[in-house]
Amino acid sequence: MVYCPVCGTENPKDVKECKNCHANLDNILNNIKSEESEYNLLKISGYVFIILGLFSLGTLSIVGLILGYKTYQQNNSNAKTHGIIIVVLNIVVILFWIWTLFLVPQWWQSTSLNQSIPRFYR
Ligand SMILES: [Zn+2]
Repeated sequence: MVYCPVCGTENPKDVKECKNCHANLDNILNNIKSEESEYNLLKISGYVFIILGLFSLGTLSIVGLILGYKTYQQNNSNAKTHGIIIVVLNIVVILFWIWTLFLVPQWWQSTSLNQSIPRFYR
């Protein structure tokens, strides 16, 4: 059974148009399918870019953020959840690289500076 998206009438699964309002169900169902596959593509790429971000010093996470945001905007019941997860994980990757590239060298420098600081402060 297929519900007509225009008038809500129940139709047999393989009809081409709604028996009540004659809306073209074939087109409507194809649109739903292509929206679904666009959503899946965005969602999967969003997750892939989390991993790519890890291997690219976080630069590709920017793309992942955009994909996550676009996933969030999709018309799908799980879109918001997946969108938020993708955005948050991409931000985590970016923060991880900022931490690794900026804070660890600073910490490393400060520990090597420790050698010249009087014993009292160590
Ligand atoms: Zn209808």
